[in-house]
Amino acid sequence: MNPALRADFPLLERTLDGRPLVYLDSAATALKPRAVLAAEEAYATQMTANVHRGKHALSEEASVAYESARKRIARFFNADPECLVFVKNTTEAINLVAVGLCLSSDDVVLNAGGEHHANLVPWMRRARVELVPGDPCEPVSLDAAMAAIARHRPKVLAIGHASNITGVIQPARALCEMARAHGVITVVDAAQSAPHLPIDVEEMGCDFLALSAHKMLGPTGVGALVGRREVLEALEPLCVGGGVVERVTATGYTLKKIPYRFEAGTPPISAALGFAAAVSYLDELGFDDIVEHERRLAAALSQSLCEIPGVEVLMARREPRLAIAAIAPRSALVGPDALARLLSDGHQIMVRSGFHCAHPLFDRLGLEHGALRASAYVYNTVEEVQRFGEVLRDLASRMVV
Ligand code: PMP
Repeated sequence: MNPALRADFPLLERTLDGRPLVYLDSAATALKPRAVLAAEEAYATQMTANVHRGKHALSEEASVAYESARKRIARFFNADPECLVFVKNTTEAINLVAVGLCLSSDDVVLNAGGEHHANLVPWMRRARVELVPGDPCEPVSLDAAMAAIARHRPKVLAIGHASNITGVIQPARALCEMARAHGVITVVDAAQSAPHLPIDVEEMGCDFLALSAHKMLGPTGVGALVGRREVLEALEPLCVGGGVVERVTATGYTLKKIPYRFEAGTPPISAALGFAAAVSYLDELGFDDIVEHERRLAAALSQSLCEIPGVEVLMARREPRLAIAAIAPRSALVGPDALARLLSDGHQIMVRSGFHCAHPLFDRLGLEHGALRASAYVYNTVEEVQRFGEVLRDLASRMVV
């Protein structure tokens, strides 16, 4: 990756205690390039108006810009713009599907295991969740997935395309093909994969794809649910009110066509424009370079975390993988929160700590104190990742003596 791109990210100019900071928390949220900030500012300064609610010049301009953003983002995923719903985030997208499918408590939803709570709790609320057994540091085996489909006869297969803990990438295309051949609805949580991998929904063959803009250089408060037309048209909206209805009488209403029937109330207009700028920025970087840079960062991360005393490292063992790793201290003496604070306050390195919205995975692995998580992205350098490894090694060796 061209290191000059770091100049596009104003936050990288910030210092802490007079020293530059190392941002290794992109799996939580990514930094925003100037192009994204400029798109949001242009809406605020040039065309503030609500969308699809008026005929004055500003309203028309804002509506056109909002729909152009939808088209731009749809093109990024090779989707039909009518099949792309703007939502708040991945969590809302999955809730929309989990509620909208009108599941019953007898229905089974199959998870790949180690899923983020966003791809678990909404299903638990409506149905019974079963898991494809497997190792969290390896992609699920297709044989195990087939056996789980035969055994549980799920209505839905809901898989995280890439893990926010280990960086494992699931074989989404093969899993969707297998599931759909057995009449199973497929939902792909692309919150972590969309920022790092090129995604073509046609090629992936999923019924639904859920993602958040803020993890892919875009603003917070907006994401997308992309659906296959037939399944999207059959989905019950999560929320109704203004903006979703064709006509309301004293006794009833008719809903608009997709995608508008799912976008109740004033949508995240400026964030949607920022989102479109983010995908344009990613396209300009080019996924060949993004993927190659990720490969190098992941290799450096894996190498740097090798044999650190007193910690357990959870990271995908094989490529392709994301540059994400979780580091769990074995002793409770210095827990992940304290370590994160030491890294931040003493070394200007930002990493996340906690259970990473995956309590069942930590329970299963017996890691009762949680873990630190380092996650790198396009603006990080191999040197930053190595520095993190060195500082952690130093802190860990002092912890065990
Ligand atoms: N799925 C995965 C795999 C994630 O990593 C996250 C965010 N950490 C989510 C879903 C939820 O994303 P959001 O908080 O933007 O809804």
